[in-house]
Amino acid sequence: MTAYYLNGVYMSAKRVLIVEDELAIREMMKFAFHKSEYALQEAEDAEQAQVMIQDQRPDLILLDWMLPGMSGLELAQRLKNNPDTQDIPIIMLTARGDENDRVRGLDCGADDYVVKPFSPRELMARIKAVLRRVDPSMGDVLEIGGIILDNATHRVTIAGKTLEFGPTEYKLLYFFMTHPERVYNRSQLLDRVWGGNVYIEERTVDVHIRRLRKVLAEHKKEHLVQTVRGSGYRFSTQS
Ligand code: CA
Repeated sequence: MTAYYLNGVYMSAKRVLIVEDELAIREMMKFAFHKSEYALQEAEDAEQAQVMIQDQRPDLILLDWMLPGMSGLELAQRLKNNPDTQDIPIIMLTARGDENDRVRGLDCGADDYVVKPFSPRELMARIKAVLRRVDPSMGDVLEIGGIILDNATHRVTIAGKTLEFGPTEYKLLYFFMTHPERVYNRSQLLDRVWGGNVYIEERTVDVHIRRLRKVLAEHKKEHLVQTVRGSGYRFSTQS
């Protein structure tokens, strides 16, 4: 997995999955991504893409409209109808510039639309814009229940005191603070915080939850990380 180092924490690169049957376009994107901050994965058709998405959740999907077999539009609809994948942003790639098609693409939940032929630079700018839109916390400061997390500096403070976390606890807290008031089971947390293709046991999640709570407990904030019996964990300011 591609990773970069930021203020003492290893962060995995954002994963972009391109679903495109034209080899020339995949090759062009591979070249464009080579020196970017993103990691590119490739699928030739919708069926292959579905398997890959299940195995390792991408942060964004570039989806060609015209694919052999299941169309890009149909795959977009399926992903947007599935609670596990509905918030993965999708940029549709298509040769059609027709206004009706554009509307249909955005109707089915696509976040943006790029008409072929496009330049890699244009697509990169769109990717960046969509990722910033879906994750406005990137580089911003989050504040929930008295915990202040600055994702630009990776500093977490409570009442002016800095908390010391391991990298996994930081990522876990960041995930919780960007997804508050929702229950996630262990397998979903492994997928979203550790990455889907990492083969670790589900009880590893409990270990890191315990460590996170221990640090928060020093500031009487451990109640924010709640165990939901039989389901998983939830970050909530309500008891
Ligand atoms: Ca195509």
